[in-house]
Amino acid sequence: MTSMGSAFDESCLFCRIVAGRVPAKVVRETEDFLAFRDIGPQAPTHVLVIPKAHGYRDVGELAAKNPELAGRLLAEGAEVAREEGLTEHPDISGYRFVFNTDDAAGQTVYHVHLHVLGGDALGHFGSAEHGRSGSAPH
Ligand code: AMP
Ligand code: ZN
Repeated sequence: MTSMGSAFDESCLFCRIVAGRVPAKVVRETEDFLAFRDIGPQAPTHVLVIPKAHGYRDVGELAAKNPELAGRLLAEGAEVAREEGLTEHPDISGYRFVFNTDDAAGQTVYHVHLHVLGGDALGHFGSAEHGRSGSAPH
């Protein structure tokens, strides 16, 4: 384990994508990050951005262990959004970042990943019972 996290976990899907053992539609790659299209897109553009290094199960752990890498992950996501045309979209500009964290948010892969979503009006987020006309926040 280094400050970048351990390099590779054979049992981790996203490590296997980084290693090229599972195919993915890569849209951007740098020394430390990989961005690829989500296999089950939730918007016209849905890209996942990950640090290549394993060892950060979610965004909270990444921010605590390596805030510098966490900051660069956000910058990487913003660059993906720009390259995907989301910041100057002809119809509807803008995008959303999502970090699902643990069961309540439906996290399924415990190798931290940033969802970059856009290309359409994205609606609201959170559970259906807590929408605009729902109960008071708590
Ligand atoms: P989360 O639910 O936040 O853990 O996100 C995991 C995401 O990985 C989901 O949106 C899945 O659709 C996506 N996913 C699962 N398998 C693959 C794959 N082989 N290639 C690309 N995306 C994947
Ligand atoms: Zn991994």
